[in-house]
Amino acid sequence: MVFQGPETTTDQDVCVIVGASHAGVNCAFELRKQGFEGRVLLIDADPHLPYHRPPLSKAFLNTPLNDAPPPLKAQAAYERAGIELVLGVKVNDISANDNTISVAAADSSTVHDALPAAITYTHLVLATGARPIVPPIPGLSTATHCLVMRNASDAYALKSLLEEKQPVLPDFHVVVVGAGYIGLEAAASLRKAGAKVTVIEREKRILARVASEAVSTHVASRHEEQGVTILCERNVQAVQQDADTGVQTVVCDNDIAYRADAILVGVGVRINGELAAQAELEMNKGAVCVDAHMQTSRPGIWAIGDCTSFPQREYGENTHIESVQNALEQAKVAAKNIHLLSAAAQSNLLPALVDYAATPWFWSDQFDMKLQMVGLVGLADNQVVRVESDRALSVWHFNGDKLISVEAINSPKAYVLGGRAINNNTPVDKAKLQDGEINLATLF
Ligand SMILES: Cc1cc2nc3c(=O)[nH]c(=O)nc-3n(C[C@H](O)[C@H](O)[C@H](O)COP(=O)(O)OP(=O)(O)OC[C@H]3O[C@@H](n4cnc5c(N)ncnc54)[C@H](O)[C@@H]3O)c2cc1C
Repeated sequence: MVFQGPETTTDQDVCVIVGASHAGVNCAFELRKQGFEGRVLLIDADPHLPYHRPPLSKAFLNTPLNDAPPPLKAQAAYERAGIELVLGVKVNDISANDNTISVAAADSSTVHDALPAAITYTHLVLATGARPIVPPIPGLSTATHCLVMRNASDAYALKSLLEEKQPVLPDFHVVVVGAGYIGLEAAASLRKAGAKVTVIEREKRILARVASEAVSTHVASRHEEQGVTILCERNVQAVQQDADTGVQTVVCDNDIAYRADAILVGVGVRINGELAAQAELEMNKGAVCVDAHMQTSRPGIWAIGDCTSFPQREYGENTHIESVQNALEQAKVAAKNIHLLSAAAQSNLLPALVDYAATPWFWSDQFDMKLQMVGLVGLADNQVVRVESDRALSVWHFNGDKLISVEAINSPKAYVLGGRAINNNTPVDKAKLQDGEINLATLF
């Protein structure tokens, strides 16, 4: 896709959005929904029509090789909304003093018609997300089939490897390094495809940073039941290749080596904060600092989604969340505020801007488990575990008597009712809650 025409020559507003994923795409469409009449340019280095990322580590891995990931919007929708989608193009730097960005083809072999070297913006939205970390472990980055999982190309690479190895999959050993959500989802999909899967985790338990112990234990046992080997408290020290047999192994600090015909690294992400740093925006631990309106420290530059550090009523000044919901809500807030400022520019009146104040939620699918989380567990000091069956449970987190978060496994009712109770500050009878026989609906 190319620019629809030369650089704007009228005095209309130009909103340039860097990053066409969950945050960027939704910001572009929300701008139009709000009535923004200026030019909207949505730029991404990724050449694929913007797609949903969550399926990449889940069901998409088990679909035919040539299936495309589900698109966020049909291509025609961009045209209808007058959004100029510019794919395969990287924004290389921001010249914040004269409101311009410079761009170039992300892949130097691609020719982009009418690609100007510099683009002038009225509003610039950074929706640059994050990229996977491959830790500097000897032999890891150069290992045979060392894979990560962030974008469509990563998922295609894993799918084509599975296809290539199809006849020998029962003896194809994949080591997943890191037992966070993405690592575990990929482990489940790989296992479903028929591979032998070992998950190696440095912490005492899986999902240690993001879930309660009860959830970790339940999820680990479901994985083991399905034949995934889970090894916690193991530090990966090196990846080695046997000179005689060619067998590749992941060596841990207990000196035990695990066969690894392929390695999927899922140890976390690094925020794509280079553009923001180069524009001298305020940053926090690599993330772009924004206020509750999604404005960065420089007027005219906004940031949304995984790349941000933002103030949140309950979780503090420097909250950072990596989730679709967070990307969507922040996109809406930024778009509303950009439109408000743009519309008010003619009247010289300062509009009242909208604040971001959503309760976070998240989901994950692994084997027959649907995990749904609402709120963040960080501030909790006590919890109630509610077991409904050997397949369904929920963990209710309280600060004193105030419900602040619910984790639900195969219990959509707990997720929905819990989320409502958090938002409405509804008191919950903990003793009754604990009794999995009592119908949840009668407690609220
Ligand atoms: C495999 C996987 C599974 C997930 N599962 C879930 C889930 O089940 N539930 C959930 O809530 N969340 C899930 N997430 C997280 C969720 O996808 C992210 O929170 C979300 O994608 C964040 O959106 P974003 O637009 O902020 O950033 P990203 O999706 O990271 O997109 C950023 C975009 O910016 C582009 N970009 C960066 N720098 C430049 C530049 N200089 N020039 C041009 N383009 C640039 C990148 O190419 C990229 O397309 C998952 C993520 C992954 C990877």
